[in-house]
Amino acid sequence: MTDPLREKLINAGRVLVDEGQGDYVWGHISARLPDDPNRFLMKPGCVGIEEMTQDNIITVDIEGDKVAGPWPRHNEVYIHSEVMRARPDINSVLHTHPEHAIAFSSLGKPLAAMSNDGTMFSAGVPVFSETTDLITDQPRGKAVAKCLGQYNALILRNHGIVTAGRTVEEAVFLAIKLERACRIQMLAESAGGPKLFVKEEELADKRKRTNRGDSQSNAFSYLVRRWHLRCGCEVPKEYRADLENFDRTGYKG
Ligand SMILES: [Zn+2]
Repeated sequence: MTDPLREKLINAGRVLVDEGQGDYVWGHISARLPDDPNRFLMKPGCVGIEEMTQDNIITVDIEGDKVAGPWPRHNEVYIHSEVMRARPDINSVLHTHPEHAIAFSSLGKPLAAMSNDGTMFSAGVPVFSETTDLITDQPRGKAVAKCLGQYNALILRNHGIVTAGRTVEEAVFLAIKLERACRIQMLAESAGGPKLFVKEEELADKRKRTNRGDSQSNAFSYLVRRWHLRCGCEVPKEYRADLENFDRTGYKG
């Protein structure tokens, strides 16, 4: 039987690779089980993030121990378990190694509100600097969760990014936008450095507008459609824009 939450993770992995967030078999995403909040589904080790299936996705508990699934567990599982332990509002955690975010983190500069994407993160993006090594034990996972605090995106300096969403769609959207914000700022930095920024008085409204829940789910649906159309596969009905029952509620342009 097809489990909808597993299917969402499978599609998340596909669109993340499409958006340049793949790093061979590294990088991972998780989703808290709605009826068992101390457990979550997670991408298994040894496969690409776009290679998740209904059968290879594993189940992990809040201590970071695998409780179900035949495939191995990533040793950075503690990013997921400790963020979920610290943040009951969070249902999906994502960790990837996107190239521009990593390169940007090595500049030691703050992310600036100089694009729509940069504006999304203008309330701040914590940078975890305690180590540049992998997060392979509970204390390091707790330190990452502490550094994240009440934010929803974090840069692991010289390593990668972590995003935390109320939904899988939100975690994916934040990861894509954070990488894009870093890439656009790198472009400006390499052309002499940004001189003009989003106006201070526009920041709060623009930040809210660029990170709405309906934008996150609309963008996710589009990216799932794009992946299926590119590979010549039938678009799953819940993501088809031509259906009468496609959810357009809350659309504000
Ligand atoms: Zn990593």
